[in-house]
Amino acid sequence: MTDAPGGTPERRLLFVHAHPDDETINNGATMARYAAEGARVTLVTCTLGEEGEVIPPELAHLAADRDDTLGAHRIGELGAAMAELGVTDHRFLGGPGRYRDSGMMGAAQNDNPACLWRADLDEAAGHLADVILEVRPQVLVTYDDNGGYGHPDHIQAHRIALRGYELAAGRGHRVDRVYEICTPRSVVQAGFDRLAARGRDVPFAGVATPDDVPGVVDDALVTVSVDGSAHAGRKTAAMRAHASQIAVDGPFFALSNDLGQPIFAVEYYRQVRGEPSGRADDLFGPGPRPAARSAKAPVGAAGGGEDGGTAGGGR
Ligand SMILES: [Zn+2]
Repeated sequence: MTDAPGGTPERRLLFVHAHPDDETINNGATMARYAAEGARVTLVTCTLGEEGEVIPPELAHLAADRDDTLGAHRIGELGAAMAELGVTDHRFLGGPGRYRDSGMMGAAQNDNPACLWRADLDEAAGHLADVILEVRPQVLVTYDDNGGYGHPDHIQAHRIALRGYELAAGRGHRVDRVYEICTPRSVVQAGFDRLAARGRDVPFAGVATPDDVPGVVDDALVTVSVDGSAHAGRKTAAMRAHASQIAVDGPFFALSNDLGQPIFAVEYYRQVRGEPSGRADDLFGPGPRPAARSAKAPVGAAGGGEDGGTAGGGR
């Protein structure tokens, strides 16, 4: 695996997500770190998140049951978030607006023929296979088969990612390793212990519980942990960019339920396809290493430690 003509980065990884903001909440530190190291980071987002609940009162008119313009607004939020993470290659599955947000499981929106939950799997996965064949990533990241927490678009994103992996393999590019996003139980508990230590000082209506965190698994099931602590400030800034969906306060955040959660700067993955990574700290396993870590790093990323106090290290 050497550099292709034209200077294509030799390390390439692809993230498949359901809505704008999922990539930053789950993988923001990982994306920022690999981008800073010169890897090509590609994001495919399956919907515009049109059915999301809007937090700021001044943006409430965007919601699906009012102006129904949230999707267009979230395209802008995603672009701003990716700029914070240093990620330049981000796309929507089949193009912006091709698949609509399905709403929460059981909602009437699940029956909308335009929604992702109703999408033809092979057609949707075919769009992803096109991206895989263009980018030729060595690593693919998505949710577990429950979508982390049972949202239909997250479940469908998982199915599309694995089917797209198969279709791309049949068309000439087999991704080396596929990972599911997860969080080890001990890490989640420690994060909530930090939050509890703040006591009444927490700036949200309440505090979430470990059960509110998607994809929690027994520690032994984790294959790789990516330490993005040096990029924690970028992750937090990208979360702020998703202002219609996320409220950020220091190393904590809340979604529309206004329940505080810790922000994690170390992110965790469980390998589900390909040769075992053999490395506990790198999604690429023993594959190509970054040649010049600082050479391609954006200004401000080199040297690490930016905004070092944020996210409490995520340990
Ligand atoms: Zn989502």
